[in-house]
Amino acid sequence: MRTAEIRQRWLTYFEDRGHTVVPSASLVSPDPSTLFTIAGMVPFIPYMTGQQTAPWKRATSVQKCVRTLDIEEVGKTTRHGTFFQMNGNFSFGDYFKEEAIAYAWDFITGSVDDGKLGFDPELVWVTVFHEDDEAREIWKRVAGLTDERIQSRGMRDNFWSTGARGPAGPCSEIYIDRGPEYGAEGGPVVDEDRYIEIWNLVFMQFERADGGTKDDFPILGPLASRNIDTGMGLERVAFLLQGVDNMYEIDEVFPVIEVAQRLSGKTYGAVEADDVRMRVVADHIRSAVMLIGDGIRPSNEGRGYVLRRLIRRSVRAMRLLGVEEPALPALVPASIEVMKASYPELGEGSDRILSIALAEEEAFRRTLTAGTTILETAVGSALSTSGPGKAVLGGAEAFQLHDTYGFPIDLTLEMASEHGVTVDETAFRTLMQEQRTRARADALAKRSGGADKAAYEALQTGLGAPVEFLGYTDTTARS
Ligand code: ATP
Ligand code: MG
Ligand code: MG
Ligand code: MG
Repeated sequence: MRTAEIRQRWLTYFEDRGHTVVPSASLVSPDPSTLFTIAGMVPFIPYMTGQQTAPWKRATSVQKCVRTLDIEEVGKTTRHGTFFQMNGNFSFGDYFKEEAIAYAWDFITGSVDDGKLGFDPELVWVTVFHEDDEAREIWKRVAGLTDERIQSRGMRDNFWSTGARGPAGPCSEIYIDRGPEYGAEGGPVVDEDRYIEIWNLVFMQFERADGGTKDDFPILGPLASRNIDTGMGLERVAFLLQGVDNMYEIDEVFPVIEVAQRLSGKTYGAVEADDVRMRVVADHIRSAVMLIGDGIRPSNEGRGYVLRRLIRRSVRAMRLLGVEEPALPALVPASIEVMKASYPELGEGSDRILSIALAEEEAFRRTLTAGTTILETAVGSALSTSGPGKAVLGGAEAFQLHDTYGFPIDLTLEMASEHGVTVDETAFRTLMQEQRTRARADALAKRSGGADKAAYEALQTGLGAPVEFLGYTDTTARS
């Protein structure tokens, strides 16, 4: 079943059951606490918290999501994309646990001929919050699952909240068993690939207070109006239904791998390290296309920096596959071509998307040409002093690469680690800080008699510091 078809089945199923179809919001998060839209519920946060009254009792969407938190997993696990689509059904003070579970079970295991997904009921496992006897009873009654296939989990895994005072509640996650060739029997285990998490049902029924830890936080009491928030990973369902091994091999992603094969002359499936690179390329190119499509441009901070990093990582992965020539002119159109069935605006904007992506590739190629030799010399001399595993690249070298050759620190870290060399990041950060202090002192000295009180105060409080990218901090991803 093609991905576009699963998405359509989803929307139709919930529309037929009284849900209003709400178009995907932008990847630029409508909620200020995250850079990107990281889940289907993000556009609905004001309704969940009760700040605003929802215009509908029931809604459904297929939301574009970006989770940079998962970037290191990409290509290595079977199921993490930096970009993915989250199917969601939502109830705002309307139906609750019973119906949410019943819909989920019916949609997953109902017949393909009735517009559902047709998964074998024997392959479904679920988790519930260990104190949520109600959910356990409903799963037994509605789905006929045995106790073994309804596994209990603690607060960290199966209790959702935003981390601060506000709505919270137990959740129930749904897994599909891929069979004994993928690992040990016995139910979902974190970070294993036998049981694939496809859907998370969140039952918002409590209000939590500030404080506590992920394993234990204070609950103030029941919510006046209970909500349902669910998220099903479209790509995960697609890869399971398409009979392929992972989410990078589905119809919306694999064509980019095919182009990477053609450009590199390498065969996907032959060497694991090359396969990971091809999957990274296919994932990152798609994310870049979707981000540019939503108006983001490469830059040195915030969202633009994430986009820049995705493009640069793709270009590097192509180089490691042996492709020295520009690769994006072939990769980007291949991704647009498959994604535009669901996102027609990508087709209309394809020239613009391509030219922004290509300009970034060109800029990066110039940086690489200038800096790689310097980096390799520095890595070589670190290795000759201490050998792999122990060698450390000095902060001064990392700083020079950054300052003179425009090598971002994460690229230096990545390239050094490929040679088994670590980087003295503390010394690098100290040098960066010193440079900033110097720059600010210079700027102040240029002003007449330090009359700019606001700038001075900002300096005192640190508020005047340039915006620095502090890693991938949109960490409010749910359990
Ligand atoms: P995982 O434990 O596999 O990292 P999660 O628990 O972080 O997933 P949720 O926050 O519960 O995921 O999101 C709801 C659903 O969205 C998941 O059940 C999964 O199907 C899908 N999903 C989450 N993260 C990704 C991702 N990076 N790529 C593809 N699908 C994802
Ligand atoms: Mg989950
Ligand atoms: Mg999970
Ligand atoms: Mg996760």
